[in-house]
Parts: sequence; structure tokens; C-alpha cells
Amino acid sequence: MTVETLHFQAEVSKLLDIVVHALYSQKDIFLRELISNASDACDRLRYAAITEPALAEGDAAFKVRLVSDEAAGLLTIADNGIGMNRAELIENLGTIAHSGTRRFAEALAAQNGKPDAKKALSLIGQFGVGFYSAFMVADRVDVISRKAGETEGWKWSSDGAGDFTVEPFDGAPRGTRIVLTLKDDAKEYLKPEALRRIVKTYSDHIDLPVVLADGEKEETVNTASALWARPKCEVTPEQYAEFYHHVGHAFDDPWLTVHMHAEGAIEYSGLVFVPTERPFDLFDPDRKQRLKLYVRRVFITDDCEGLVPSYLRFLKGVVDTPDLPLNVSRETLQDNPLVRKIGRGLVSRVLAEIGKTAEDKEKYAEFWEAFGAVLKEGIYEDFERRATLLDLCRFQSSLKDGWIGLADYLAEMPEGQEHIYYLTGDSAEALKANPQIEGFTAKGVNVLLLTDAIDEFWTAMAPPYKDRKFASVGGAGADLARIKGAAADETAPEAEKPEDDKPRADIAALATMMKTALGDEVTEVKPSSRLTSSPVCLVSGDAGVSLHLERLLKAHNRTGAHAARVLEINPGHPVIAALARRAADGADIADAAWLLLDQARIVEGEPVADAAAFSRRLTAMMEKGLF
Ligand code: ADP
Ligand code: MG
Repeated sequence: MTVETLHFQAEVSKLLDIVVHALYSQKDIFLRELISNASDACDRLRYAAITEPALAEGDAAFKVRLVSDEAAGLLTIADNGIGMNRAELIENLGTIAHSGTRRFAEALAAQNGKPDAKKALSLIGQFGVGFYSAFMVADRVDVISRKAGETEGWKWSSDGAGDFTVEPFDGAPRGTRIVLTLKDDAKEYLKPEALRRIVKTYSDHIDLPVVLADGEKEETVNTASALWARPKCEVTPEQYAEFYHHVGHAFDDPWLTVHMHAEGAIEYSGLVFVPTERPFDLFDPDRKQRLKLYVRRVFITDDCEGLVPSYLRFLKGVVDTPDLPLNVSRETLQDNPLVRKIGRGLVSRVLAEIGKTAEDKEKYAEFWEAFGAVLKEGIYEDFERRATLLDLCRFQSSLKDGWIGLADYLAEMPEGQEHIYYLTGDSAEALKANPQIEGFTAKGVNVLLLTDAIDEFWTAMAPPYKDRKFASVGGAGADLARIKGAAADETAPEAEKPEDDKPRADIAALATMMKTALGDEVTEVKPSSRLTSSPVCLVSGDAGVSLHLERLLKAHNRTGAHAARVLEINPGHPVIAALARRAADGADIADAAWLLLDQARIVEGEPVADAAAFSRRLTAMMEKGLF
């Protein structure tokens, strides 16, 4: 029969090159990757055989065998799992079809040119390289596989240099056998002590036996019992971390580990991790949760929508229950009331554990910076837990450095402040400089600076926190008069405003003339009670979408949502006062009005509508000032 030679996808070749050269100091992990794949393959067959017992071919004693042939320099990792047919060998081992490696390659490509070893390492840390790690220790890799339920066996071979071959292979047992021709500097992996040590360190938690085989003799080297089913006191932090690496296909360490056994009406065990680093697929549009569901140690699915809500999709781990039937169909799981109940128990526990960590501000900030934007989705998706979630939220703010929680925010409100004020935009830096908050700052009123896209959505529903409403500063200028603020603020520029609170006629007239000059570019021009040092600002008012949301939607080609655009002018500012006088004298204030609007746009983070006109007006104005 023929041997076919095929090429690796270009990205695979590049990846292989990097793996081999960057990871030389962490060679041990090749074994964990191959054992992990073998264990996944057994899990998959075990599940498939529930509905189709013939697939197991009478051999359901799943295990991973390690065989070393010191004379020939060969190390074999064999499993009796589901196996691969020809097409799967080509797809799984020759392309970067599976998402982890694909993202990895994309991230590498984004580096332009040759990434250095350190950067590559950190990327590998994020994505993992799975099967390809075999080439760190082997000059040549042969994969012999027969898929459960099929009769033909296949052999895949490569030296990792660009090509691989595929050919039929007679008499292959079911499952996959990976034969590594070890490199000269990797011969240590032929020694039983080395293999024992690595399996103990990285693969002890694997739920099936990993055996060292020497002819008929087999020695089981791992504990081979599901880690999540063991009592907490018997599991070390290192074992938890290694299990997390395996189950989460992750390379960072868990930020939080929650191990629970629930008994009573429903029985289940959960071993759930919050990662330290953002998984690469966190913002994928499918927003799928990734916990694995087991029934009595049998893997059922890692695609169980009803288990935990999508705002907790960053969780990794397993849930195992004896209360579901083994042959439960994956399709109906989403609506299964038992699954929902287990999910609810789990979510409560995980949120409580996350909350407990909040006392350690630095550690909590790590979590919040990685996952806060996702957790906030729950504020509008999970009505029941809104209060809990708001308690877990942290924000940047105009008066404080670092993150603050809502409880602290409320505790520090000055007399007369009723609402929780916020402003949305692209970055906290830009928001801090936004004139809209000047008056708030002058009165010692802290403003939450919200910079995640999701903030536009939950704030739009304005769920109250401890009876305090969230209010956008855009529409809240008028509230300021009621807030006393700190005594020192009596001297703030605002004090220049007339005592009687009546609108000044000259300013009102100026506002009308400006609106006439600006036409439909603004919805309204009105005197401001919030500005101290800036002459103008652009706000969207309380109703409808904010200016920031309008920009976000536009960036995603979703037009149609229009924010109200209110240009507020500062009666206490010398430019506005002078302009009001000139207007009263009958001067044309149109150019000045346009310049002020464009200036407000720039500060708000919007482009000026007509850059040429802006430049012309600015030049004319400078000429007047300079000569
Ligand atoms: P990952 O395990 O993250 O999917 P790998 O690079 O480790 O990535 O493996 C790529 C794919 O090759 C796996 O998803 C699986 O489909 C297939 N595969 C690897 N090893 C085996 C094996 N021992 N048995 C069956 N399939 C395997
Ligand atoms: Mg793998």
C-alpha cells in the first residue's frame, strides 16, 4: 500500500520550530501532554460506549501504557481509547484546526518576524502546544492508531520538519500508540525513575491507570482515582494545580480553587477553578461555559449550557453527580432541572468564595482585572444574584486611585448626595479629564469611571444598589446644587454664579444664538451648573444612549442609535462671559460657537466633524489674538 506524504500547514511548521527551540528547559511536559490526550481519548470512548457498547470491543479496562526500549531509544505512550482514522490523523496532527493551537499561531503571527524565546514561552503558557510538544524530545514521532468501530489502522509519521506521512497499518489494536524516537539529549526519558517522577508530578490525578509496562509486567504509577472525588484533606495544592492544567488545558496557576461535595437532596462533587489569566476565548461570541460534566466518573460533556451562566464562563473544572442516568442525552441536559439545581448550588458557592478573597485587595484586583468585565454581564442577566454581583464589583473612580467597591463608595458620599454617579468612556485617564465631572470633583463627589463595553448595558437598566440609583453624570448636572460638598469648596469658581439661581438673561440669549448657529449638530445648548474650569462640555443627557455607546455601536457598524447631544456652557468662564457680551452687542458668534463645539467633541473623544473648517476657524481666531 502507498505511503502518502503531506505538508504541515505553514503555521504548524512555525509552531514546531518554536516549541523545539523555546521550550528546551521544560521538556518534561511532553509526557503530561501525551498522557492527557490519551486520557481524553479514553474518556471519549467510555462515553460513546454507553450508547454503543460494541465500540469497546470487549476491552473497557482503559489505561495508558508507557513502554521504554532502552536499546532502541524508543518511548511508547499507548492508550486503548477512541483512536483516530486517517482523516482525523491528518486534521488533528497536521493542521492547526483545534482552537488552542490556532490562537497560539495567530498570536505568534501578530509578533511580526521571529519572536524571542521568552515571548514564545509566555504564549505557550497561555495556549499550550499539546501533541506537538513530542518534538521537543523526539527526532521522529510515529502515531499508530485505529479508531473504535473501524477496521483499518493507520500510521502517521514525522520528523517535525515540514512533512508527515500517512500509510495504512495492519493489525493495529484499537486506540493510539505514540512511538517517540528520542533525541540524544532526551534519553533520560527511557529510565523508569524519570517516568515515575514525571507521572507522579504531572499526571497523578488522571482517573485511569498510567502503567509502566515491561513485557507482561505492569506497574501502576499514578493514584488513578478521580481527584475531585477525594477528600479535600488528601489533596495538595500542587495536585490541584496539575489537575487544573489538565482539565482546563491551561498553563497558568489557578487563582482560586473551590472543591466541594454536596450531599442531601442532590449529591454532587465539584472541583472548580478560577484561572489567573484570561483564557484566550473569553470573549468568543458563543460565550459558552466550559465546565465538564461527569456522571459517576464517566465524562459526559464539556458543553452543558444549563450548568453555569455564561458570565461565569471563565471557570474551569468538573462537576460529577451520581444522580443523573449515565445514558442521559447531551441534548436535553440544558433543560434538565437537576443540572440547573446543581448549577445553582455551585454558582452560589463559587461567588461566595470569590467574595471572601476580596479582603486581600491586591489579589482581588488580579481577578477583577482579568474577569470583571465578564462578571458584570451577570448584573443584567442574573436578576436573582444582582445584589451579590454588585457587591463583587470594583470600579475606577475620579477621586480615588485603584479599585473601589460600592460599599466604600456609599460610605464616602458627601451630605446631600443621593445617587451613585458614573461616566462611561474608553479609558479612565480620558474620563478623569472630562469636563463633565468638574463640578462633581469640586464638591468632593466621587464619580465611577466605567470603561467596559458591558457597562453601557447594565447601567442602562440602572439596578439600584442598597436603594441608591446609578445616575449618569451626563444628566445629573442639576443634582449638584443639592449636594453640600466639602466646606473648602465655597471658594470654587462656581461661587461666582449668581446667588438667586435664576438663569442669567445674557447667557440664555447666547445659548439660543449658539443653537441657531450650530443647527442640528446639537440637540440643545444650555447653561451648565457642573463646569468649573472648562468653558463647555458635551453631554448626552439622561434619556437614551450615551455618547460613548453611540461611538461603540458605530465602531461595530451598528448605526441608528443616536445620543442626544447637549452642549453645556459655563456661565462663570471668561470666554463664555465675553462671548455673551459680544452677542448682546450684535456680533456674529457663529465661528466661536463652532470652535467651542469642536473643542467639546475632542475632549469627549469624538472627531471634529469638519477638520478643515475647524482649522480655518482656529487660525482666524489666533490671528485676532496674536496681532
Ligand atoms: P488538545 O488536546 O488541546 O485538543 P493536542 O495537540 O494535544 O490538543 O491534540 C490535538 C488533537 O489530536 C486532540 O484534540 C485529539 O483530537 C487528537 N489526539 C491527540 N492524541 C490523541 C490520542 N491519544 N487519541 C485520540 N486522539 C488524539
Ligand atoms: Mg492535548
